[in-house]
Amino acid sequence: MRKIILPGLVLYTLSSGLGLFLNPDPSNLLLTVWLSGYLLLALSVAYASLFNQAFTQEAYQRFPLFSVFYFIVLGVILLNFFVQLTGGARSTLWPGYFLFAVMVAAFLPVWQAYATTSLILAIEAANLFMSGQWNTEKWPVYAGFALSLFGVSAIISHIMHRTRGERKQAEDKLEKLIEHADAINPLADNDTIEALTEENQLASNVKAARTREDAFAGLIDMIYEFVPAHAYALFLKERIGEGDAFVLRARRSDSDGLYLAPIGEVLKPEQDNGVISGCIKYRQPQYLSNMEQTAGTLGYYTRRLPVKSVLVIPIVHNGNNIGVLAVDSLEGGAFSLETQDLLARFTPFFIQIIEKIRGSQELNLRATTFAAMHEISTVLNSSLELDHILERLAKEINVLVPHEFCVFVQYDDKNRTIAIVHQSGSVTFTGPSRSLVGKITSVVKSLGSENTVEEDKPFPVEQGSLINQMLGQWEQGQSAPYHFFDLHERDAVGLLDTTSGLTQQLRSLSCWPLVTGEKFIGVFFLGSLRAHAFSDFHRNFLDTLTNQVALVMDNAILHQQISNLARTDGLTGLLNHRTFMEKLAEEYKRLNREPRPFSILLMDIDKFKNVNDKYGHPVGDVAIKAVAKVMKDAARSSDFVARYGGEEFAVGMVDTDCKGAEQMGERIRKVLEKTLVTRVFDGELRVTVSIGVSSFPLDTKNTADLVTMADTALYQAKRSGRNRVCLYRDVQDREPAATKP
Ligand code: GH3
Ligand code: MG
Ligand code: MG
Repeated sequence: MRKIILPGLVLYTLSSGLGLFLNPDPSNLLLTVWLSGYLLLALSVAYASLFNQAFTQEAYQRFPLFSVFYFIVLGVILLNFFVQLTGGARSTLWPGYFLFAVMVAAFLPVWQAYATTSLILAIEAANLFMSGQWNTEKWPVYAGFALSLFGVSAIISHIMHRTRGERKQAEDKLEKLIEHADAINPLADNDTIEALTEENQLASNVKAARTREDAFAGLIDMIYEFVPAHAYALFLKERIGEGDAFVLRARRSDSDGLYLAPIGEVLKPEQDNGVISGCIKYRQPQYLSNMEQTAGTLGYYTRRLPVKSVLVIPIVHNGNNIGVLAVDSLEGGAFSLETQDLLARFTPFFIQIIEKIRGSQELNLRATTFAAMHEISTVLNSSLELDHILERLAKEINVLVPHEFCVFVQYDDKNRTIAIVHQSGSVTFTGPSRSLVGKITSVVKSLGSENTVEEDKPFPVEQGSLINQMLGQWEQGQSAPYHFFDLHERDAVGLLDTTSGLTQQLRSLSCWPLVTGEKFIGVFFLGSLRAHAFSDFHRNFLDTLTNQVALVMDNAILHQQISNLARTDGLTGLLNHRTFMEKLAEEYKRLNREPRPFSILLMDIDKFKNVNDKYGHPVGDVAIKAVAKVMKDAARSSDFVARYGGEEFAVGMVDTDCKGAEQMGERIRKVLEKTLVTRVFDGELRVTVSIGVSSFPLDTKNTADLVTMADTALYQAKRSGRNRVCLYRDVQDREPAATKP
């Protein structure tokens, strides 16, 4: 329908308009008809273009240039109408034709400029003819008018065409670039450079980039080709800990990058003259064309430079401002609106790269997480040995969440103590401290030193320590992890001792309570030298993992307890005879491989029959327990202490020669001498012991003989009066004991 109406209206308007010229009387009825037809046409075109997009789109697709020209024809007719109204050949509106021709020549293609002037001349000639005013003698006037109209139109049109041509060339170049760069994939493994054109070369650089820094640098090089400037800087929004920050990801400067901040520098909003942060805030290009202040404060410079112009455009994706691109110049007013336009055309490239990187990072992360999860569940199910599980677990965690400090502590709810069951990482510790982490510090520091605190020895949960806090929360049913994003910030003070060496080295520390339904199993600590080292993703992953770890630890601890029962003696808690012999056999193997001092201490309570006979067996048992406790306290963690027989005990001492073993025996003997075992009906019960010592390799290089030799020494101790330590080397006859007195 519309297809018929519009051309019909045009025809009607033109024909009734021509009719008007046949009878040029302003009061003529035809004038009203023509005017209303013209208005109708103008209104319908305006309506169609404003409110009916489908129509304009269709029309534009069919006759893209005609639809603009359509308005020009209407304009010429309207102008002609006013010229006719105001006196025809004598009208003062004639310069309007020049103005119209100039406008068309300036903004529209050349052919439209010529077509417009032709139309004006044709209509005016038709007017003259039809109104009978044509005068052939006036041809120089007509020719002059025609020539000047054509001349003006031609000159303006060609000047503008040249400028437009240059711009078009640049646009074409960019268009080509975009075409070539369509397949930009900085992470693709395909770095063949197919063509030799400059655009291709530039696009290929981006395409072949292996890292995102390379890709962005390639893009900046491309921009450099189109927008000459002094420096270019690209900031991208990145998540840093809890907040977002704009980080310098690419830069280029005419002065060889001199004075430019390093890649990775975080934009400090107070340091950018308001121009970059303004762009971030309003998501609109910001332009300073003549800065009074020099731009030492531009955020991407390390010193003040006489920068005069700065243009910053936002990189907006899905309504989010994901970055900004800044260009500057040492000259004032260096950038035009067109520069702004051109720069904006590069933003899709940045977005494309960012999206690709994000996509591939996410894929990578998922793949690694999946693999790590698989590994971890294998680890968690592989063994019931706590040490083994935690050691392998820590390794797997390090693959996914790189760290420098990893500690598992186990909580003992009977004694309210904690013990380190695993620790790994590169952080070294100095300085003692009060708090939990400080406690770990001093514990780890004292390993292997003369300090009595040892890694597998439990220490009490201290008031005000982090672990105490966690316990308190767990008791109220509110277990939650603690995250310290930057220990160097003041808010970390309180729960952690900031004077300890550990917290001075570590910047990030996260602590997860390990809890099952009813039990507080322990705490898992993960630390890093970097602030904000653990992302949301890392923390979510470990939230899930620690739940599983708590269950597995619980199982392993149970298993440990059961196997301990089988390995230890029920009365004293010391190793039983069988386990002692197993451990000895293991140690003998090691000694045969790499010899080093090793001593055995055999111990027997003196005249113990008498104790039993006089006070009864229960009192005898109390005495046996008392002796066991003294021995446990005296032993180091590397010693293995066992109840060897009824009231006989044995200690295996690694890295201890006979001197050391003698000292140890003497210590036990002296302490026992003074120890009150229990009160009995006739006073206080004390017991003494006799001790025999044999040493490898001093007494024998044959480890199998060591126990017999210790026994011989013990027999010597008994024979020479009891309550004494006897070394095998001091035994006179050195004959293995056959019988006892
Ligand atoms: P000696 O100084 O020569 O060692 O004299 P003794 O009386 O201690 O002699 P011996 O070592 O041979 O004595 C072993 C006694 O220890 C025998 C047994 O009554 C007692 N005994 C062994 N096991 C236990 C136990 O588990 N509980 C108690 N109450 N007594 C035990
Ligand atoms: Mg005995
Ligand atoms: Mg005895």
